[in-house]
Amino acid sequence: MYEFAVAPAITQLRRPGVLISEVSPESLADELELAPNDRIVRVNGRVVRDYLDFRFQTAGETDLLLQVKKPNGETWEIEVEREEGEDFGLMFEQIVPRQCANECLFCFCKGNPADARPSLFVRDEDIRLSFLYGNYTTLSSITDDEMKRIVEQRLSPQYVSVHATDLKTRAYLLGVDEKRADIFGKLNTLLENDIEIHAQVVLCPTINDGLQLEKTLRDLASHYPKVVSTAVVPVALTRYNTDERLTRVTPEFCRRTIGEVEKLQKEFRKNLGVTFAFLGDEIYIKAGLPIPSRKHYGNYPQIEDGVGMIRSFTNSFEKLLKKLANRQNAETQNFVAANVRTHQLAIVPKNQKSEVGNRKLNSLHGTILTGEMFAPILSEQIQRVNALINSKLKVRAVPNVYFGGDVAVAGLLTGKDYLAVRGQIEGDFVVIPKHTIKSDEPILLDGMQFDELQAQFNVPIYALDTEDLIRQILAGDFRE
Ligand code: SF4
Repeated sequence: MYEFAVAPAITQLRRPGVLISEVSPESLADELELAPNDRIVRVNGRVVRDYLDFRFQTAGETDLLLQVKKPNGETWEIEVEREEGEDFGLMFEQIVPRQCANECLFCFCKGNPADARPSLFVRDEDIRLSFLYGNYTTLSSITDDEMKRIVEQRLSPQYVSVHATDLKTRAYLLGVDEKRADIFGKLNTLLENDIEIHAQVVLCPTINDGLQLEKTLRDLASHYPKVVSTAVVPVALTRYNTDERLTRVTPEFCRRTIGEVEKLQKEFRKNLGVTFAFLGDEIYIKAGLPIPSRKHYGNYPQIEDGVGMIRSFTNSFEKLLKKLANRQNAETQNFVAANVRTHQLAIVPKNQKSEVGNRKLNSLHGTILTGEMFAPILSEQIQRVNALINSKLKVRAVPNVYFGGDVAVAGLLTGKDYLAVRGQIEGDFVVIPKHTIKSDEPILLDGMQFDELQAQFNVPIYALDTEDLIRQILAGDFRE
Protein backbone atom coordinates (compact mmCIF):
# COMPACT_ATOMS: atom_id res chain seq x y z
CA MET A 1 0.00 0.00 0.00
CA TYR A 2 1.32 3.47 -0.80
CA GLU A 3 2.40 5.43 2.22
CA PHE A 4 2.07 8.96 1.02
CA ALA A 5 2.14 10.71 4.37
CA VAL A 6 5.67 10.18 5.64
CA ALA A 7 8.90 11.75 4.50
CA PRO A 8 11.30 9.49 2.62
CA ALA A 9 14.08 8.11 4.75
CA ILE A 10 16.72 8.07 2.04
CA THR A 11 18.53 11.29 2.81
CA GLN A 12 17.95 11.47 6.52
CA LEU A 13 20.56 10.54 9.08
CA ARG A 14 19.52 9.07 12.37
CA ARG A 15 20.75 11.36 15.12
CA PRO A 16 20.22 10.77 18.81
CA GLY A 17 17.03 12.12 20.32
CA VAL A 18 13.96 13.64 18.78
CA LEU A 19 14.04 16.99 16.98
CA ILE A 20 11.59 19.69 18.02
CA SER A 21 9.93 21.23 14.96
CA GLU A 22 7.54 23.69 16.65
CA VAL A 23 6.93 25.19 20.08
CA SER A 24 3.53 26.70 20.84
CA PRO A 25 3.77 30.25 22.15
CA GLU A 26 3.23 30.59 25.92
CA SER A 27 3.22 26.80 26.35
CA LEU A 28 5.13 24.86 29.01
CA ALA A 29 7.89 24.15 26.45
CA ASP A 30 8.11 27.87 25.66
CA GLU A 31 8.47 28.64 29.38
CA LEU A 32 11.28 26.05 29.56
CA GLU A 33 13.03 27.86 26.67
CA LEU A 34 12.79 24.87 24.38
CA ALA A 35 13.00 25.90 20.74
CA PRO A 36 12.73 24.44 17.22
CA ASN A 37 15.85 22.42 16.28
CA ASP A 38 16.56 21.44 19.88
CA ARG A 39 16.88 17.69 20.37
CA ILE A 40 15.45 15.98 23.41
CA VAL A 41 17.84 13.10 23.97
CA ARG A 42 16.82 11.73 27.37
CA VAL A 43 13.84 11.85 29.68
CA ASN A 44 14.53 10.88 33.31
CA GLY A 45 17.78 9.28 32.14
CA ARG A 46 16.10 7.12 29.47
CA VAL A 47 17.11 7.46 25.84
CA VAL A 48 14.54 9.08 23.50
CA ARG A 49 14.56 7.80 19.90
CA ASP A 50 11.46 9.48 18.51
CA TYR A 51 8.30 11.24 19.60
CA LEU A 52 6.60 7.98 20.54
CA ASP A 53 9.39 7.44 23.11
CA PHE A 54 8.95 11.02 24.33
CA ARG A 55 5.21 10.52 24.66
CA PHE A 56 5.64 7.19 26.44
CA GLN A 57 8.35 8.38 28.82
CA THR A 58 6.56 11.56 29.82
CA ALA A 59 3.03 10.08 30.08
CA GLY A 60 1.62 10.45 33.59
CA GLU A 61 4.86 12.02 34.93
CA THR A 62 4.71 15.37 36.68
CA ASP A 63 8.42 15.62 37.70
CA LEU A 64 10.77 15.20 34.79
CA LEU A 65 14.40 15.70 33.94
CA LEU A 66 14.96 16.46 30.26
CA GLN A 67 18.36 16.31 28.60
CA VAL A 68 18.33 18.59 25.60
CA LYS A 69 20.97 19.17 22.89
CA LYS A 70 20.91 22.74 21.59
CA PRO A 71 21.91 23.47 17.96
CA ASN A 72 25.09 25.24 19.24
CA GLY A 73 26.29 21.95 20.78
CA GLU A 74 25.38 22.80 24.41
CA THR A 75 23.62 20.16 26.48
CA TRP A 76 20.96 21.44 28.89
CA GLU A 77 19.52 19.53 31.82
CA ILE A 78 16.03 20.89 32.44
CA GLU A 79 14.01 20.05 35.52
CA VAL A 80 10.29 20.15 34.86
CA GLU A 81 7.40 20.26 37.27
CA ARG A 82 4.08 20.19 35.57
CA GLU A 83 0.42 19.72 36.35
CA GLU A 84 -0.97 16.28 35.75
CA GLY A 85 -1.76 15.92 32.05
CA GLU A 86 -0.31 19.36 31.20
CA ASP A 87 0.73 19.46 27.55
CA PHE A 88 4.24 20.56 26.61
CA GLY A 89 3.10 22.40 23.48
CA LEU A 90 5.67 20.66 21.29
CA MET A 91 5.63 19.38 17.73
CA PHE A 92 8.31 16.95 16.57
CA GLU A 93 9.99 15.82 13.36
CA GLN A 94 8.29 13.04 11.42
CA ILE A 95 9.33 9.48 12.10
CA VAL A 96 11.91 8.19 9.64
CA PRO A 97 10.44 4.87 8.49
CA ARG A 98 12.37 1.61 8.65
CA GLN A 99 12.67 -0.23 5.36
CA CYS A 100 11.46 -3.76 4.67
CA ALA A 101 13.75 -6.63 3.71
CA ASN A 102 11.25 -8.45 1.50
CA GLU A 103 10.91 -8.91 -2.24
CA CYS A 104 7.14 -9.32 -2.48
CA LEU A 105 5.96 -10.54 -5.87
CA PHE A 106 3.36 -7.78 -6.04
CA CYS A 107 5.35 -4.99 -4.35
CA PHE A 108 4.04 -1.58 -5.44
CA CYS A 109 7.64 -0.42 -6.02
CA LYS A 110 7.87 -2.86 -8.94
CA GLY A 111 4.76 -1.26 -10.45
CA ASN A 112 6.17 2.27 -10.57
CA PRO A 113 7.34 3.92 -13.77
CA ALA A 114 11.13 4.29 -13.71
CA ASP A 115 10.87 8.08 -13.45
CA ALA A 116 8.43 8.09 -10.49
CA ARG A 117 9.31 10.26 -7.49
CA PRO A 118 12.00 8.65 -5.29
CA SER A 119 9.64 8.54 -2.31
CA LEU A 120 7.42 6.09 -4.22
CA PHE A 121 10.24 3.59 -4.06
CA VAL A 122 10.47 3.75 -0.27
CA ARG A 123 9.59 0.32 1.11
CA ASP A 124 8.53 1.27 4.58
CA GLU A 125 7.94 -1.45 7.15
CA ASP A 126 7.66 0.17 10.51
CA ILE A 127 5.70 -0.93 13.55
CA ARG A 128 5.51 2.69 14.75
CA LEU A 129 3.75 3.78 11.54
CA SER A 130 1.56 0.73 11.79
CA PHE A 131 0.40 1.87 15.22
CA LEU A 132 0.15 5.56 14.26
CA TYR A 133 -1.32 5.40 10.74
CA GLY A 134 -2.45 1.82 10.16
CA ASN A 135 0.38 1.03 7.71
CA TYR A 136 0.83 -2.69 7.23
CA THR A 137 4.02 -4.50 8.14
CA THR A 138 4.92 -8.13 7.47
CA LEU A 139 6.75 -8.53 10.82
CA SER A 140 9.29 -10.61 8.88
CA SER A 141 12.25 -8.41 9.76
CA ILE A 142 11.08 -7.09 13.12
CA THR A 143 13.84 -7.05 15.76
CA ASP A 144 13.58 -8.28 19.36
CA ASP A 145 13.83 -4.66 20.51
CA GLU A 146 10.88 -3.68 18.34
CA MET A 147 8.86 -6.62 19.64
CA LYS A 148 9.64 -5.50 23.21
CA ARG A 149 8.75 -1.94 22.34
CA ILE A 150 5.31 -2.86 20.96
CA VAL A 151 4.52 -4.68 24.19
CA GLU A 152 6.09 -2.17 26.60
CA GLN A 153 4.65 0.94 24.96
CA ARG A 154 1.34 -0.75 24.09
CA LEU A 155 1.64 0.09 20.39
CA SER A 156 -1.70 -1.58 19.77
CA PRO A 157 -3.30 -2.27 17.34
CA GLN A 158 -0.73 -3.45 14.83
CA TYR A 159 -1.63 -3.94 11.15
CA VAL A 160 -0.01 -7.08 9.75
CA SER A 161 0.20 -8.29 6.15
CA VAL A 162 -0.22 -12.02 6.60
CA HIS A 163 -1.18 -12.91 3.00
CA ALA A 164 -1.23 -16.66 3.79
CA THR A 165 -0.87 -18.74 6.93
CA ASP A 166 0.62 -21.58 4.89
CA LEU A 167 4.33 -20.93 5.36
CA LYS A 168 5.48 -21.99 1.90
CA THR A 169 2.90 -19.74 0.26
CA ARG A 170 3.74 -16.81 2.51
CA ALA A 171 7.48 -17.17 1.82
CA TYR A 172 6.78 -17.37 -1.93
CA LEU A 173 4.66 -14.22 -1.88
CA LEU A 174 7.16 -12.29 0.24
CA GLY A 175 10.13 -13.46 -1.82
CA VAL A 176 12.04 -14.55 1.30
CA ASP A 177 13.04 -17.88 2.85
CA GLU A 178 10.64 -19.73 5.10
CA LYS A 179 12.62 -18.93 8.23
CA ARG A 180 12.18 -15.22 7.65
CA ALA A 181 8.58 -15.61 6.51
CA ASP A 182 7.62 -17.52 9.66
CA ILE A 183 6.07 -14.91 11.93
CA PHE A 184 3.70 -17.10 13.85
CA GLY A 185 5.85 -17.18 17.00
CA LYS A 186 6.00 -13.39 16.91
CA LEU A 187 2.29 -13.10 16.28
CA ASN A 188 1.59 -15.36 19.23
CA THR A 189 3.84 -13.29 21.49
CA LEU A 190 1.95 -10.15 20.51
CA LEU A 191 -1.41 -11.81 21.02
CA GLU A 192 -0.37 -13.27 24.39
CA ASN A 193 0.55 -9.74 25.44
CA ASP A 194 -2.88 -8.45 24.42
CA ILE A 195 -1.69 -6.52 21.38
CA GLU A 196 -4.56 -6.38 18.91
CA ILE A 197 -3.90 -7.29 15.30
CA HIS A 198 -5.72 -6.28 12.13
CA ALA A 199 -4.58 -8.62 9.36
CA GLN A 200 -4.39 -8.18 5.61
CA VAL A 201 -4.35 -10.58 2.70
CA VAL A 202 -3.32 -9.25 -0.70
CA LEU A 203 -5.17 -11.71 -2.88
CA CYS A 204 -3.18 -13.06 -5.81
CA PRO A 205 -5.17 -15.37 -8.11
CA THR A 206 -3.80 -18.93 -8.28
CA ILE A 207 -1.42 -18.31 -5.33
CA ASN A 208 -3.28 -17.54 -2.09
CA ASP A 209 -6.92 -17.73 -3.18
CA GLY A 210 -9.48 -20.58 -2.91
CA LEU A 211 -8.55 -23.20 -0.28
CA GLN A 212 -5.45 -21.23 0.72
CA LEU A 213 -7.60 -18.21 1.50
CA GLU A 214 -10.06 -20.32 3.43
CA LYS A 215 -7.24 -21.76 5.56
CA THR A 216 -5.78 -18.30 6.18
CA LEU A 217 -9.11 -16.80 7.22
CA ARG A 218 -9.98 -19.74 9.46
CA ASP A 219 -6.52 -19.70 11.11
CA LEU A 220 -6.76 -15.97 11.76
CA ALA A 221 -10.37 -16.14 12.95
CA SER A 222 -9.33 -18.76 15.52
CA HIS A 223 -7.50 -15.89 17.30
CA TYR A 224 -10.52 -13.58 17.37
CA PRO A 225 -10.98 -11.19 19.24
CA LYS A 226 -7.21 -10.53 19.54
CA VAL A 227 -6.97 -10.73 15.78
CA VAL A 228 -9.76 -8.22 15.35
CA SER A 229 -10.37 -8.32 11.60
CA THR A 230 -8.89 -9.36 8.28
CA ALA A 231 -9.03 -7.39 5.04
CA VAL A 232 -8.81 -9.26 1.75
CA VAL A 233 -7.81 -6.87 -1.00
CA PRO A 234 -7.11 -7.76 -4.64
CA VAL A 235 -3.63 -7.42 -6.06
CA ALA A 236 -3.50 -4.34 -8.32
CA LEU A 237 -1.02 -4.59 -11.13
CA THR A 238 0.14 -1.59 -13.09
CA ARG A 239 1.37 -1.91 -16.66
CA TYR A 240 4.91 -2.13 -15.26
CA ASN A 241 4.23 -5.34 -13.28
CA THR A 242 5.28 -7.94 -15.80
CA ASP A 243 6.15 -10.79 -13.44
CA GLU A 244 4.70 -13.89 -15.08
CA ARG A 245 3.98 -15.51 -11.73
CA LEU A 246 1.20 -12.96 -11.17
CA THR A 247 -2.29 -13.26 -12.65
CA ARG A 248 -4.59 -10.28 -13.06
CA VAL A 249 -7.85 -10.14 -11.12
CA THR A 250 -10.90 -10.66 -13.35
CA PRO A 251 -14.64 -10.10 -12.72
CA GLU A 252 -15.14 -13.87 -12.75
CA PHE A 253 -12.41 -14.33 -10.13
CA CYS A 254 -14.07 -11.64 -7.96
CA ARG A 255 -17.50 -13.29 -8.21
CA ARG A 256 -16.03 -16.66 -7.25
CA THR A 257 -14.12 -15.16 -4.31
CA ILE A 258 -17.22 -13.34 -3.03
CA GLY A 259 -19.17 -16.62 -3.15
CA GLU A 260 -16.43 -18.46 -1.24
CA VAL A 261 -15.85 -15.76 1.37
CA GLU A 262 -19.55 -15.12 1.95
CA LYS A 263 -19.89 -18.68 3.26
CA LEU A 264 -17.08 -18.06 5.74
CA GLN A 265 -18.48 -14.66 6.73
CA LYS A 266 -21.79 -16.31 7.55
CA GLU A 267 -20.01 -18.88 9.68
CA PHE A 268 -17.94 -16.20 11.48
CA ARG A 269 -21.03 -14.10 12.16
CA LYS A 270 -22.71 -17.15 13.67
CA ASN A 271 -19.73 -18.25 15.77
CA LEU A 272 -17.95 -14.97 16.55
CA GLY A 273 -20.78 -12.46 16.21
CA VAL A 274 -18.86 -10.39 13.63
CA THR A 275 -18.09 -10.60 9.90
CA PHE A 276 -14.35 -10.74 10.73
CA ALA A 277 -13.12 -11.22 7.12
CA PHE A 278 -13.89 -8.29 4.83
CA LEU A 279 -13.45 -8.09 1.09
CA GLY A 280 -12.10 -4.90 -0.46
CA ASP A 281 -14.67 -2.68 -2.20
CA GLU A 282 -12.84 -3.18 -5.48
CA ILE A 283 -13.76 -6.89 -5.47
CA TYR A 284 -17.52 -6.12 -5.39
CA ILE A 285 -17.20 -3.39 -8.03
CA LYS A 286 -15.18 -5.60 -10.38
CA ALA A 287 -17.64 -8.45 -9.82
CA GLY A 288 -20.54 -6.12 -10.65
CA LEU A 289 -22.22 -7.11 -7.36
CA PRO A 290 -23.75 -4.85 -4.69
CA ILE A 291 -21.63 -3.49 -1.85
CA PRO A 292 -22.72 -5.06 1.47
CA SER A 293 -24.84 -3.16 3.98
CA ARG A 294 -23.65 -0.88 6.78
CA LYS A 295 -24.23 -3.72 9.28
CA HIS A 296 -21.80 -6.00 7.43
CA TYR A 297 -18.89 -3.63 8.21
CA GLY A 298 -19.52 -3.08 11.94
CA ASN A 299 -17.35 -0.16 12.97
CA TYR A 300 -15.43 -0.23 9.65
CA PRO A 301 -12.21 -1.71 11.11
CA GLN A 302 -10.41 -1.75 7.75
CA ILE A 303 -11.81 1.33 6.02
CA GLU A 304 -8.35 2.81 5.36
CA ASP A 305 -7.55 -0.30 3.34
CA GLY A 306 -10.45 0.36 0.95
CA VAL A 307 -12.85 -1.90 2.81
CA GLY A 308 -16.28 -0.34 3.37
CA MET A 309 -15.30 3.07 1.96
CA ILE A 310 -18.07 2.94 -0.65
CA ARG A 311 -20.74 1.97 1.89
CA SER A 312 -19.59 4.71 4.24
CA PHE A 313 -19.64 7.21 1.35
CA THR A 314 -23.12 6.28 0.11
CA ASN A 315 -24.47 6.46 3.67
CA SER A 316 -22.98 9.93 4.14
CA PHE A 317 -24.47 10.97 0.83
CA GLU A 318 -27.91 9.75 1.88
CA LYS A 319 -27.62 12.05 4.91
CA LEU A 320 -26.58 14.92 2.65
CA LEU A 321 -29.59 14.37 0.40
CA LYS A 322 -31.90 14.34 3.41
CA LYS A 323 -30.42 17.59 4.70
CA LEU A 324 -30.78 19.23 1.30
CA ALA A 325 -34.37 18.04 1.00
CA ASN A 326 -35.20 19.27 4.53
CA ARG A 327 -33.62 22.61 3.86
CA GLN A 328 -35.48 22.96 0.61
CA ASN A 329 -38.77 22.09 2.29
CA ALA A 330 -38.16 24.58 5.11
CA GLU A 331 -37.24 27.36 2.69
CA THR A 332 -40.21 26.58 0.48
CA GLN A 333 -42.52 26.73 3.49
CA ASN A 334 -41.04 30.08 4.58
CA PHE A 335 -41.51 31.37 1.07
CA VAL A 336 -45.09 30.14 0.95
CA ALA A 337 -45.84 31.62 4.39
CA ALA A 338 -44.42 35.00 3.38
CA ASN A 339 -46.34 35.04 0.13
CA VAL A 340 -49.61 33.85 1.65
CA ARG A 341 -49.44 36.88 3.89
CA THR A 342 -49.04 39.15 0.88
CA HIS A 343 -51.44 37.17 -1.33
CA GLN A 344 -48.71 36.72 -3.93
CA LEU A 345 -48.53 32.94 -3.88
CA ALA A 346 -51.30 32.59 -6.38
CA ILE A 347 -49.19 34.22 -9.04
CA VAL A 348 -46.01 32.17 -8.44
CA PRO A 349 -45.70 29.48 -11.14
CA LYS A 350 -45.78 25.90 -9.75
CA ASN A 351 -42.29 24.99 -10.91
CA GLN A 352 -40.89 28.10 -9.25
CA LYS A 353 -42.39 27.11 -5.90
CA SER A 354 -40.29 23.95 -5.88
CA GLU A 355 -37.12 25.87 -6.67
CA VAL A 356 -37.33 28.63 -4.13
CA GLY A 357 -35.14 26.78 -1.63
CA ASN A 358 -31.45 26.20 -2.30
CA ARG A 359 -31.16 29.30 -4.53
CA LYS A 360 -27.51 29.59 -3.56
CA LEU A 361 -26.87 25.85 -4.05
CA ASN A 362 -28.40 25.63 -7.48
CA SER A 363 -25.73 27.91 -8.89
CA LEU A 364 -23.16 25.11 -8.41
CA HIS A 365 -21.70 24.25 -11.78
CA GLY A 366 -18.48 22.28 -11.90
CA THR A 367 -16.72 19.01 -12.73
CA ILE A 368 -15.69 16.36 -10.22
CA LEU A 369 -12.81 14.17 -11.38
CA THR A 370 -12.31 10.74 -9.90
CA GLY A 371 -10.97 7.27 -10.71
CA GLU A 372 -12.76 4.98 -13.14
CA MET A 373 -13.76 2.59 -10.38
CA PHE A 374 -15.56 5.13 -8.19
CA ALA A 375 -16.95 7.36 -10.98
CA PRO A 376 -20.23 5.48 -11.66
CA ILE A 377 -21.06 5.38 -7.92
CA LEU A 378 -20.26 9.05 -7.38
CA SER A 379 -22.06 10.04 -10.57
CA GLU A 380 -25.27 8.34 -9.44
CA GLN A 381 -25.23 10.27 -6.15
CA ILE A 382 -24.34 13.58 -7.80
CA GLN A 383 -27.22 13.18 -10.26
CA ARG A 384 -29.56 12.90 -7.28
CA VAL A 385 -28.10 16.12 -5.85
CA ASN A 386 -28.55 17.84 -9.20
CA ALA A 387 -32.17 16.69 -9.41
CA LEU A 388 -32.84 17.98 -5.93
CA ILE A 389 -31.18 21.39 -6.03
CA ASN A 390 -30.93 22.08 -9.77
CA SER A 391 -27.13 22.20 -9.62
CA LYS A 392 -25.00 21.29 -12.62
CA LEU A 393 -22.31 19.06 -11.15
CA LYS A 394 -20.71 16.54 -13.50
CA VAL A 395 -18.56 13.53 -12.63
CA ARG A 396 -15.81 12.54 -15.05
CA ALA A 397 -13.94 9.23 -14.81
CA VAL A 398 -10.21 9.76 -15.26
CA PRO A 399 -8.32 6.82 -16.79
CA ASN A 400 -5.03 6.14 -15.01
CA VAL A 401 -2.62 6.31 -17.89
CA TYR A 402 0.42 6.94 -15.70
CA PHE A 403 0.32 3.58 -13.89
CA GLY A 404 -1.98 1.83 -16.36
CA GLY A 405 -2.86 -1.85 -15.96
CA ASP A 406 -5.65 -2.54 -13.45
CA VAL A 407 -5.19 0.73 -11.58
CA ALA A 408 -8.57 2.46 -11.46
CA VAL A 409 -8.71 3.83 -7.90
CA ALA A 410 -9.02 7.58 -7.35
CA GLY A 411 -6.07 7.78 -4.94
CA LEU A 412 -3.47 6.92 -7.60
CA LEU A 413 -4.41 9.54 -10.20
CA THR A 414 -1.56 11.76 -11.25
CA GLY A 415 -1.11 15.25 -12.67
CA LYS A 416 -0.66 13.85 -16.18
CA ASP A 417 -3.94 11.91 -15.89
CA TYR A 418 -5.83 15.09 -14.94
CA LEU A 419 -4.26 17.01 -17.80
CA ALA A 420 -5.39 14.33 -20.25
CA VAL A 421 -9.08 15.06 -19.44
CA ARG A 422 -8.75 18.85 -19.38
CA GLY A 423 -10.96 19.11 -22.48
CA GLN A 424 -13.89 17.50 -20.64
CA ILE A 425 -14.13 20.12 -17.90
CA GLU A 426 -17.46 21.94 -17.59
CA GLY A 427 -18.46 24.75 -15.29
CA ASP A 428 -16.70 27.09 -12.89
CA PHE A 429 -14.42 24.74 -10.97
CA VAL A 430 -12.82 21.30 -10.85
CA VAL A 431 -12.66 18.94 -7.88
CA ILE A 432 -9.91 16.32 -7.63
CA PRO A 433 -9.47 13.69 -4.89
CA LYS A 434 -7.53 15.16 -1.98
CA HIS A 435 -5.41 12.04 -1.49
CA THR A 436 -3.77 12.53 -4.86
CA ILE A 437 -1.88 15.48 -3.36
CA LYS A 438 0.91 14.72 -0.87
CA SER A 439 -0.30 15.49 2.65
CA ASP A 440 2.66 17.69 3.61
CA GLU A 441 3.61 19.15 0.23
CA PRO A 442 1.56 20.37 -2.79
CA ILE A 443 2.86 17.74 -5.16
CA LEU A 444 1.16 14.92 -7.11
CA LEU A 445 2.26 11.29 -7.44
CA ASP A 446 4.04 11.87 -10.76
CA GLY A 447 6.03 14.74 -9.27
CA MET A 448 3.91 17.50 -10.83
CA GLN A 449 3.49 20.52 -8.54
CA PHE A 450 -0.10 21.46 -7.76
CA ASP A 451 0.54 25.03 -9.04
CA GLU A 452 1.81 23.58 -12.31
CA LEU A 453 -1.42 21.62 -12.68
CA GLN A 454 -3.57 24.61 -11.72
CA ALA A 455 -1.83 26.77 -14.31
CA GLN A 456 -3.06 24.42 -17.06
CA PHE A 457 -6.73 24.83 -16.11
CA ASN A 458 -8.89 27.92 -16.70
CA VAL A 459 -10.93 27.32 -13.56
CA PRO A 460 -9.91 26.76 -9.93
CA ILE A 461 -9.06 23.21 -8.82
CA TYR A 462 -10.16 22.10 -5.35
CA ALA A 463 -8.58 19.01 -3.79
CA LEU A 464 -11.29 17.49 -1.59
CA ASP A 465 -12.08 14.22 0.10
CA THR A 466 -15.66 12.96 0.06
CA GLU A 467 -16.45 14.57 3.44
CA ASP A 468 -15.17 17.93 2.18
CA LEU A 469 -17.22 17.46 -0.99
CA ILE A 470 -20.39 16.93 1.02
CA ARG A 471 -19.60 19.96 3.20
CA GLN A 472 -19.01 22.17 0.17
CA ILE A 473 -22.23 21.05 -1.51
CA LEU A 474 -24.13 21.88 1.67
CA ALA A 475 -22.39 25.25 1.89
CA GLY A 476 -23.27 25.87 -1.76
CA ASP A 477 -19.84 27.26 -2.40
CA PHE A 478 -16.60 25.58 -3.43
CA ARG A 479 -14.38 28.54 -2.69
CA GLU A 480 -12.28 28.12 0.46
S1 SF4 B 1 6.65 -5.60 2.45
FE1 SF4 B 1 6.54 -6.30 0.31
S2 SF4 B 1 4.99 -4.96 -0.62
FE2 SF4 B 1 5.61 -3.98 1.29
S3 SF4 B 1 7.28 -2.62 0.70
FE3 SF4 B 1 8.23 -4.54 1.30
S4 SF4 B 1 8.48 -5.68 -0.59
FE4 SF4 B 1 7.01 -4.06 -1.00
